[in-house]
Amino acid sequence: MVQEEKDMFTEIEDIKKLDIRSMMFDELAVWVKAVGQPAFRAKQIFEWVHEKGIADAEEMTNVPKKLIEEIKKQGMHGVEEVTRLVSKQDGTNKFLFRLQDGNVLESVLMRYKHGNSVCISSQVGCRMGCRFCASTIGGLIRNLEASEMLDQIYAIERITGERVSNIVVMGTGEPLDNYDNLIRFIRIINDERGKNISQRNITVSSCGLVPQIKKLADEELSITFALSLHSPTDEDRRKLLPIANKYSIAELMEVCRYYFEKTGRRVTFEYSLVKDENDTPEHAYKLAELLKNMHGHVNLIPVNPIKEREYCRSLGDSVEKFKYILEKKDINVTIRRSMGRDIDAACGQLRRKYEEAKETF
Ligand code: SF4
Repeated sequence: MVQEEKDMFTEIEDIKKLDIRSMMFDELAVWVKAVGQPAFRAKQIFEWVHEKGIADAEEMTNVPKKLIEEIKKQGMHGVEEVTRLVSKQDGTNKFLFRLQDGNVLESVLMRYKHGNSVCISSQVGCRMGCRFCASTIGGLIRNLEASEMLDQIYAIERITGERVSNIVVMGTGEPLDNYDNLIRFIRIINDERGKNISQRNITVSSCGLVPQIKKLADEELSITFALSLHSPTDEDRRKLLPIANKYSIAELMEVCRYYFEKTGRRVTFEYSLVKDENDTPEHAYKLAELLKNMHGHVNLIPVNPIKEREYCRSLGDSVEKFKYILEKKDINVTIRRSMGRDIDAACGQLRRKYEEAKETF
């Protein structure tokens, strides 16, 4: 075999490991050719799967039966609704979805004046061990495929009949711990032949995996990167986030600066306020000092307590005082509106309840 033929062979063998929904357009075109179909079928399939967001290959009415059979053989992974909770307070919808292997995950639809935003999961479980988080209690089960991330959005559109315009990858899982599938997901959801969601409307959050943040910067995407900072000092941060034992705040600031230089996008610093742990005026002054030249934006999040962990939500006046100090120091800051507090909106709580009481679902 000559080198070129060998490369083509390797490419199709790699593509055949993917399910149809996880294939980027060019890969789908190679697959279509490999199953002996004309090139225009790739565009038809891609539109059905990604623009229309269908649940089942049988819905492709302009695709021949033979090709539908090939698609079914290849597989089209996705999610299926188990249950949905609707907040009476603000209309937030929380979905529990089942994957084809029986694992379950959560996604949240939040309705804002500027459009619908969906928070998706990137892994089943998580191995990062953040102290305030229910998603990590059972550890990491597995990474989600790109198709399983995409179909959380498509399924919500199918169920509600409403368009999704913003995506936050902030549900269960550390997105950068599932790096390749995350990038694949972003490229497909942004493809103009599919949902065509602008990269500017996508936010990816991380607890701080420095090498992967650098890699993400090098992709030169125009997504928003959000760092879960939660503390201005290494000592305090280590109490909340085990990853802080591996990467220091100095390393994080350096890589965030690099991210801004490469992408021109200012970084969001997520700061979950835990009563008496990281919400004092002293913490606010230290945070302002840390971020003074960072071209960033601070998002304060009064945490939702979970029953498995002992800590309390910051009181309203501590939150306001914290914000006031940052503003006085010219730091750009907002308080995240707490959505769906009546429906277990904290990450991972619904999934844990499901695992604890499977028979009631
Ligand atoms: S906060 Fe995110 S990264 Fe940390 S344990 Fe929870 S899901 Fe994982």
